[in-house]
Amino acid sequence: MDMSFSPEEMAFRDEVRKFIADNYPEELRAKGRGDMTKEEILMWHKILAKKGWAAPHWPVEYGGTGWTITQRYIWNEECARAETTPLLPFGLSMVGPVIFTYGNEEQKKRFLPGILAGEDWWCQGYSEPGAGSDLASLRTKAVREGDHYIINGSKTWTTLAQHADWMFCLAKTDPDAKAQDAISFFLIDMNTPGITVRPIITMDGGHEVNEVFLEDVKVPAENLIGEENKGWTYAKFLLGNERSGIAGVARSKKAIERLKNIAGSELVDGTPLLDQEDFATKIAEVEVDLTALEFTELRTLAAESKGQGPGPESSILKIKGTEIQQRITELTLEAVGNYGFVYAPHGHERTGNEYVPGPEYAAGQSQNYFNMRKTAIYGGSNEIQHNIIAKMVLGL
Ligand SMILES: Cc1cc2nc3c(=O)[nH]c(=O)nc-3n(C[C@H](O)[C@H](O)[C@H](O)COP(=O)(O)OP(=O)(O)OC[C@H]3O[C@@H](n4cnc5c(N)ncnc54)[C@H](O)[C@@H]3O)c2cc1C
Repeated sequence: MDMSFSPEEMAFRDEVRKFIADNYPEELRAKGRGDMTKEEILMWHKILAKKGWAAPHWPVEYGGTGWTITQRYIWNEECARAETTPLLPFGLSMVGPVIFTYGNEEQKKRFLPGILAGEDWWCQGYSEPGAGSDLASLRTKAVREGDHYIINGSKTWTTLAQHADWMFCLAKTDPDAKAQDAISFFLIDMNTPGITVRPIITMDGGHEVNEVFLEDVKVPAENLIGEENKGWTYAKFLLGNERSGIAGVARSKKAIERLKNIAGSELVDGTPLLDQEDFATKIAEVEVDLTALEFTELRTLAAESKGQGPGPESSILKIKGTEIQQRITELTLEAVGNYGFVYAPHGHERTGNEYVPGPEYAAGQSQNYFNMRKTAIYGGSNEIQHNIIAKMVLGL
């Protein structure tokens, strides 16, 4: 694969870099996602939507940019370089592609514009107590009554459901069929009576995930995607996209750069940590892994551009991508030592007036380390991804 950029691609890179520099909101720079209001989280999305750049991976007919793989690569690199807040994946990368692939014309017209514009916030109603890895055993039920379904059940770990306008939700529509032939895929307005969202506070102190209870929730039949009892197919298609998106190569590159800066500032017996053979080797190992992952991701993107959607190989991207993300947080915490245990709500060190001991870059690193443990669990745990690779890729 030739990775050198043509003059046109260099010009594109300059255009993108300038656009980000001129348009990325200053007020977002000092904040981590944990501190942002709903409006702030959507701010960058809306700016990109106006420019027509919110969904580079969508087909042009639905609002995609029509960029080549190299242009998308450049785009991701430039966003990571400028540390822009990542756009939420639930609409753009998860339910959007399900709607334009399996939805009917009415659904495309009704839902895609709101997703593209960043007007509608979506959440993912897949997992339930007792149905995570074994998702097919979910127990939420939908019963057809005239032109509606009545849905009862509960969902858990629902990321950012506290802000959501809509939820895409799996529910059983055939109590007698085997699990994979019994599930349907619904789009549910979160303002429908009977929905309760209850926060789950995670060990880093953040409110990122929730429980969602559904009690006699009336959902119009036109909000069913595709065919009744065929939801498992759409659900798996969505998971393939979700897992590829988790890899986060460009952002890990930026995180390694940040780690190197920290290790260059931290001294051990008067010598920068970065120059200590043992620590330098650890960084080199993670960089080698990341380069290998980058090329694997590019191969997947190249296949995707030829119309081959992400298959079970997205599990490889998910495992390696999250292992690398976690490794970087481990090395960062190791680099900053005890100062990493200073509690600092995201952005606190820059906005608060309380004394924070140690260098600014150290505060909050333990929270970051703890928060990133989630990456090996969400999107389907890494153990389950190993099982998928064994079965679907290696044929074991
Ligand atoms: C931060 C966070 C955000 C999330 N956001 C969402 C969301 O927005 N929407 C949503 O629907 N879900 C969400 N999830 C849920 C996530 O998809 C599940 O947590 C995940 O699928 C694991 O399911 P579980 O938690 O029920 O664990 P379990 O399935 O109970 O697994 C427990 C452990 O056993 C292992 N295990 C289970 N079965 C096997 C097996 N067959 N072989 C080997 N090992 C196995 C697992 O790897 C895991 O280590 C989120 C999770 C987290 C942590």
